[in-house]
Amino acid sequence: MSDFIPVNEPLLIGNEKKYLEECIDTGWISSEGPFVKKFEIEFAKAVNRKYGISVCNGSVALDVAVTALGIGPSDEVILPTFTIISCASAIVRAGAIPVLIDVEKNTWNINVEQIEAKITKRTKAIMVVHIYGLPVDMNPVLQLAEKYDLFIIEDAAEVIGQTYYNKPCGSFGDISIFSFYPNKHVTTGEGGMVVTDNEELSEKCRSLRNLCFQPQQRFLHEELGWNFRLSNIQAAIGVAQLEQLDKSIIRKREIGMRYLNNLNKLSTVQLPQLKTDFAENIFWVFGIVSIDEKYPDSVSIIDILKTKNIGTRPFFWPMHEQPVFHKMGLFQNESHPNAENIARNGFYIPSGLAITDDQIDFVSEILLELFD
Ligand SMILES: *Cc1c(COP(=O)(O)O)cnc(C)c1O
Repeated sequence: MSDFIPVNEPLLIGNEKKYLEECIDTGWISSEGPFVKKFEIEFAKAVNRKYGISVCNGSVALDVAVTALGIGPSDEVILPTFTIISCASAIVRAGAIPVLIDVEKNTWNINVEQIEAKITKRTKAIMVVHIYGLPVDMNPVLQLAEKYDLFIIEDAAEVIGQTYYNKPCGSFGDISIFSFYPNKHVTTGEGGMVVTDNEELSEKCRSLRNLCFQPQQRFLHEELGWNFRLSNIQAAIGVAQLEQLDKSIIRKREIGMRYLNNLNKLSTVQLPQLKTDFAENIFWVFGIVSIDEKYPDSVSIIDILKTKNIGTRPFFWPMHEQPVFHKMGLFQNESHPNAENIARNGFYIPSGLAITDDQIDFVSEILLELFD
């Protein structure tokens, strides 16, 4: 029996240790240390942005983004139902109303054709989320934002290093956000970043993540902020990780291609789409949607794979089916069939940067047996 293959294992083989030693040797461990600024500048540059504001995770980056844009009570924000809860919770916590859209069958991204019908006088922003490695079709979304004077909040957590028509994901929103959780293409353990080209917005974000301390009279507050700062220790790892990004992207695509080649003979599963008109899949995760009648849902498959020492995760569960939101009176009779289907039958398999080709082939063989 092989060792357990985790769904994700990060790769920390560059200058991570060296930069961490610098933190210890110099005593700079807080957010005031030099790696924080360096990471912000270099990360912003990597995604073609003027300003980067590091925060302690990607979820709070969304809170900062929504708040910095002044979104609040009675405002509506359009977003996909198929995403992580952080997207909807940032909107709800700001007192605003999330308005959900179903996803496309093939890319699992928001169906941009359904957005316009949901725009009302109260709509303030569209929150786009690039899902699992393929970008959202941004041009129609940008056109809608222009036409109706809406903000775009871009959640690019899953697509660090991905492009849309050769422009970096994360360069499209009025504000865009990233996460540096260990399964993301750049990790700091926990961490996140808000990026923008708008100086005023960048200053708001900086202030919000730092308790809205004021430069002149530090402990006098005009607004309420949070302590969402990233530490020098985390940023040190981030700087080292960023140096490896190009290599990491090449490897992520190799992993995805290897799985695709191994598994494409299967007729009872839907595999990730290799490319669209505007991008080639970066395979943040390698998702599989079962259409096999042997398995009532992905839970049964996940359980079997666990007995074979293979780690998996189920797909996101749609926002319109979240008990916490139903209790708030949100989304009660909504249906978004594509999201419901992939949530029930979708799972993703080990595809972190530390995975070996042998492990990919082993996982593939097991899947070939299960779905044959
Ligand atoms: C990972 C992720 C986040 C937030 O990540 P944290 O775990 O809070 O750093 C936000 N949005 C999406 C789409 C993500 O995948």
